[in-house]
Amino acid sequence: MAQTQETVLEIHLDALAHNYKYITSHLNPTTKVMGVVKAFGYGSDACEVAKELVALGVDYFAVAYTKEGVALRDAGITQPILVLHPQPINFETLIDRCLEPALYSPRILKAFVAVAETKNQKDYPVHLKFNTGLNRLGFWENDTSWIADQLAETTSIKVTSLFSHLAASEDLNEREFTLGQIQSFKAIAADMTTRLGYQPLLHQSNTSGILNYPKAQFDIVRTGIGLYGYGNSEAYDSQLKPVARLKSIISQIHAIEPGETVGYNRAFTAPHFAKTATIPIGHADGISRKLGNGVGAVLIAGKKAPIIGNVCMDMLMVDITEIDCKEGDEVVIVGESQSASQLAESMGSISYELLTAMSQRVKRVVCRKQP
Ligand SMILES: *Cc1c(COP(=O)(O)O)cnc(C)c1O
Repeated sequence: MAQTQETVLEIHLDALAHNYKYITSHLNPTTKVMGVVKAFGYGSDACEVAKELVALGVDYFAVAYTKEGVALRDAGITQPILVLHPQPINFETLIDRCLEPALYSPRILKAFVAVAETKNQKDYPVHLKFNTGLNRLGFWENDTSWIADQLAETTSIKVTSLFSHLAASEDLNEREFTLGQIQSFKAIAADMTTRLGYQPLLHQSNTSGILNYPKAQFDIVRTGIGLYGYGNSEAYDSQLKPVARLKSIISQIHAIEPGETVGYNRAFTAPHFAKTATIPIGHADGISRKLGNGVGAVLIAGKKAPIIGNVCMDMLMVDITEIDCKEGDEVVIVGESQSASQLAESMGSISYELLTAMSQRVKRVVCRKQP
């Protein structure tokens, strides 16, 4: 790959393929894979990622909101798409675009049935979400008889799957809690299935669920972060490859005298003669101000250049006193030498937040082959 001339987020599809194979190598041959491409494919490019996942054999997609599913349909994706957190105002669009809603509460179920009936739907595929301890979205276990009664009164919808979500699958100190969630889900699924009189598909695991609880695969797994190259532990991270790699260039180099300051609020004072580089990426691009003042660093010529002073909206400054480099040289912010989880950790965050914070201003470049 030629050296970049501006700030770009490279999306490495060969890394995606590697991660897909790594994750599916943990699955039984019959387990279906739902690729989670919400939030612009974890900040990359949902449509490009989805197309590659189709080529790799993915069975299902999941997004958070209806508009994310619409974008996939507009890009020509024909696989089934689960909308995890739909709102009633979008139900008509959702049906028009053949998206499948997660129904997670009595209010949502009633609202969806009303729209499905108005639109003369028959057996429209829906997914019932149950709360087993995350306490975020989902029916409670004692809602099953109410749900069965509602379903008995309409032919407009049909339950494709029953699912739940784990609260701490990446945290092995919470093993007992997670095993409890898995047990509750099994009990709810058995009860709901009896009441329905047919067997929907079952799913509960996210990426860390797949890796840490291989016996709880059920029929489908929902993998997000793993596809993008992160496994919520150093051991798994080392087996995966980052799909998104954030690169930039040195716009300008300054020689700073001792006692001079750099950036807004004069937050950095040079303790000695210093050389600084200005990089065209800032908090408007998704680089948090929390990474300023020495918390985060970028890589130039393979060496760490700490961010000095406050991160600005459109740029940031780094200390290159010890680095042999020139204007126009490449800067790596996230890549193989500094992962999103490592950079996120320096500011007390996680890979998910750093990746999805990448704003739409950053140019996306799709790369098919390893450079
Ligand atoms: C985002 C999400 C996932 C994917 O989780 P990862 O940890 O990224 O694999 C799975 N299920 C639900 C309900 C989600 O919201």
